[in-house]
Amino acid sequence: MENTMNGAHHIIIINLARQYDHPLVLPTAFYECAQLPLSTILSTVTDDTGMKWKLSDEDLKRVLEGRDQLAERRHYQLAMFIAPYKVKTSQSCRTEDSCITEMKETGHKLYSDWNKQHRHAVLSELDSHIGQRDICLSCVSMLEYAYEDHREKVWNDLVDIFDLHDTVTKDEWLDDDDDD
Ligand SMILES: [Zn+2]
Repeated sequence: MENTMNGAHHIIIINLARQYDHPLVLPTAFYECAQLPLSTILSTVTDDTGMKWKLSDEDLKRVLEGRDQLAERRHYQLAMFIAPYKVKTSQSCRTEDSCITEMKETGHKLYSDWNKQHRHAVLSELDSHIGQRDICLSCVSMLEYAYEDHREKVWNDLVDIFDLHDTVTKDEWLDDDDDD
């Protein structure tokens, strides 16, 4: 099982979901798979019983293309902290200069993490301690709202991002989410 402790079990989940026709598992399984290092995505995984699993050529293509899209969306998601034309303070902000400076510093930190790792982790929570920085409360809630809004859009778009329309429609995916 040591092969699967690094997240490679998502490769098995994708195969089982296909085999037993559980398409609603696929969008998140593809998302998780896209977070893995390339060497893991391309590998053959051995389960407890010694059975070997790998992604089909079509699913491999989906993971790799979706992975690129996630990295792009992550870039866009972080831009509001750093891109000169996007960094704005809340309408009720009374400390614009310090808020802008702090937002940009937060952005630099997020970007440097983005470059080192987590390039595709567009669904991850906003973990920048922005509430503890010298940013006013209305700017903090504006940033959190915008970040959450973007996360939700990505979640809703997973079917498109991984080109899963043949197996699960966007309506089915969104309905399933509503039931949770
Ligand atoms: Zn502010």
